[in-house]
Amino acid sequence: MARPDLRRNDEMRKVKITTDYTIYAEGSVLIEVGDTRVLCTATVEETTPAFLKDTGLGWVTAEYSMLPRATHTRKKRDIKTLKLDGRSSEIQRLIGRALRAVVDRKALGERQIIIDCDVLQADGGTRCASITGGYVALYLACKKLLDTGVIERMPLTDAVSAVSVGIFEDEAVLDLNYAEDSRAIADCNVVMTGSGDFVEIQGTGEGRPFTREELTKLLSLGKKGTAKLCRAQRKALGLRAPEQEE
Ligand code: UDP
Repeated sequence: MARPDLRRNDEMRKVKITTDYTIYAEGSVLIEVGDTRVLCTATVEETTPAFLKDTGLGWVTAEYSMLPRATHTRKKRDIKTLKLDGRSSEIQRLIGRALRAVVDRKALGERQIIIDCDVLQADGGTRCASITGGYVALYLACKKLLDTGVIERMPLTDAVSAVSVGIFEDEAVLDLNYAEDSRAIADCNVVMTGSGDFVEIQGTGEGRPFTREELTKLLSLGKKGTAKLCRAQRKALGLRAPEQEE
């Protein structure tokens, strides 16, 4: 079986992370995974949602959206339908959960960091690219808070990144592009920490149910992919391994 872009089954697309891509946000990152491109910005707000008032705990949340021509045919802006697309709300909750998994909310203090993920171009794996790029934007914002003395210690306990894996023409493959994603038998998003532990796994047998053996193969590919993404994150941030030594 040949993949549409002739990659090996365990081969990721090319990953490029550009920091400080825009100038106003406390953290700004353009992440490119093959032809998928997502702008991730981090904004620090000195307030928290009402349910955290006087708890001393901070919050990290995310918003996700695709630009109209991020896709093959024009996708209407949400404002035109006056409601957030169901897919977007599912994705932005996943991004927020993934990032909060590595945040020490006490160390962040009573403030909120909002990660905006805007897809400029979608070729599969936009939610995973948003998590991977969103972490780098979050790191930059936290570093700014630390460097300006607003917080005393880094509130990030580990790195986090995500990759899609799936069963394409009966074989387990890493990092699906749109051509593969749209024909995959099973589609799975794997979110892992820099230490190699799981944060979230979303897996669906859309074409047919998949076996435990296939799942094991998919998770191994997910581990390989996220390890590579963590290296790309560290490189973009100018950190040596492991990322917490700063
Ligand atoms: N896609 C699209 N229009 C949509 C939703 C998705 O063209 O409204 C394409 C896009 O290339 C996207 C891919 O389908 O990256 C896979 O979408 P999915 O919902 O699985 O999310 P993703 O893989 O991007 O996280």
